[in-house]
Amino acid sequence: MKIIMLGAPGAGKGTQAKKISEKYQIPHISTGDIFRSNIKEGTELGKKAKGYMDQGALVPDELTIGMLIDRIQKEDCSDGYVLDGFPRTIPQAESLTKAISEMGQKIDFAINVDVPDENIINRMSGRRACISCGATYHIVYNPSKVPGVCDVCGAELVLRDDDKPETVKKRLSVYHDQTQPLIEYYEKEGVLVNVDGTQELNKVFSDIVSILGA
Ligand SMILES: [Zn+2]
Repeated sequence: MKIIMLGAPGAGKGTQAKKISEKYQIPHISTGDIFRSNIKEGTELGKKAKGYMDQGALVPDELTIGMLIDRIQKEDCSDGYVLDGFPRTIPQAESLTKAISEMGQKIDFAINVDVPDENIINRMSGRRACISCGATYHIVYNPSKVPGVCDVCGAELVLRDDDKPETVKKRLSVYHDQTQPLIEYYEKEGVLVNVDGTQELNKVFSDIVSILGA
């Protein structure tokens, strides 16, 4: 079972990827994890990637694909995997399709966790973080006992810059330009499935399970 997660930043695809990984016993693979493990293990690709990252540059797609292919050839991926955060662009998707087809593989499901922008902006603007210990809350879904005060350490809770509407809107705009075209790409490949990501997260997951099979 080879799965790609699609969806806007803040749509909750990472959470769903983790739940899929647990239920179906397949690795949850994110590019961040792949970069970290290659750099830690000092692989050739990791060293090259670190060179780019140290300069604040983007890691070229061919390096990322190389690390990803190494990862999915490991033993624990024999029953499949769930990719989270890759591909992000059409060229990346095309390279991935080519690379895995050379391994005799294909993606079985591209799961699009669909949430309207407005909904994401509202969700993110409800997040609060402690300025002292970093504990996180949500004014609706996970409120602190006393509004504006951290349950753990009593320090002040703030809306982080990353969660502010103007920042979220910028990220969504990049998503619409670069990543949303993947929905059509995987639809053409015949593997796209849409789930309504505005629902409660366990309901989103049960919809996914009903697609993937128990
Ligand atoms: Zn705190």
